[in-house]
Amino acid sequence: MTAKFKLCLLIYCLVVFCSVLNAASPDKNVILIGWDGAQREHVIQALEKGQLPTLKKLSKEGKLVKIDIEGEAEQKIKITDENRAKYEKMTQPRKNKEGKVNKPDGKIIDQNGVEYYFVPGKPHYNMSKNTDLFENGLVLDEKVGKRVIELIEQNKDKRFFFFVHFAEVDHSGHKSGENSKEYNDALISNDKWTGKIIDKLKKLGIYKKTLIYITADHGFDEDQTGHGNAPYVFLATNAKNIIRDGRRQDVAPTILEAFGLDLSQIEPKLDGIPLTKEDNRTAAKIGPTEIKKKVKKSKTD
Ligand SMILES: [Zn+2]
Repeated sequence: MTAKFKLCLLIYCLVVFCSVLNAASPDKNVILIGWDGAQREHVIQALEKGQLPTLKKLSKEGKLVKIDIEGEAEQKIKITDENRAKYEKMTQPRKNKEGKVNKPDGKIIDQNGVEYYFVPGKPHYNMSKNTDLFENGLVLDEKVGKRVIELIEQNKDKRFFFFVHFAEVDHSGHKSGENSKEYNDALISNDKWTGKIIDKLKKLGIYKKTLIYITADHGFDEDQTGHGNAPYVFLATNAKNIIRDGRRQDVAPTILEAFGLDLSQIEPKLDGIPLTKEDNRTAAKIGPTEIKKKVKKSKTD
């Protein structure tokens, strides 16, 4: 199953907040840009063909590193006739061994007429209620990009954090496949609108005090229309202090650190290590989730 955690919970959204920061923080704005479903290999190939000039320039100023997604990350499972009973059962309260009733983790939600079993990310899934602005439903890169540019103008005199989510790559991948022209065009569109955001920052004279991070919530299955096993993404930034490749859980601490937050004060502790710090963990477990196949017993058994 796939990585559809933070970014896909916030489908088509962008987030802005101007936070209270500790006094020792650097004086930088941060913009995190999600290219939903951008497969690392495809991105690298498009870069080599010169199709993603913004990404190329940004990485030259800072870094482009590999990000792998470890373990199972799908939080949203499509409900079908076959699995409905199972997931409906999982949304019911259950008694544990001591007889205590536990609330279910997941619920069934409806998105554009399709039902999903959905497990909200815990415990940080309150973000939308705790930002100065949370908007979604813009869908198209052009609409998202134009709105971001408008909001940068409005917030230019404050210090800000934006999370911008471009969804067209994911959408075109589902519709036309990872090797389609549409998928490639959507990557070019993400790059173009990312470029327009950067141009706006430059025009306002605030680019030098703004760190940009581009990443993806998951890749895409090679030549397929899904991302059931797509753990390979990237992080590109104009920040100069990234020292290594990493795992998806390293992205959040990297960005929070860049924004000047004291990570030791965050509870519960974050899973990852900033990409500015050495990594001494054991090797990541990357790969397809094991699917337990039912072994049919033959009648003669
Ligand atoms: Zn998707």
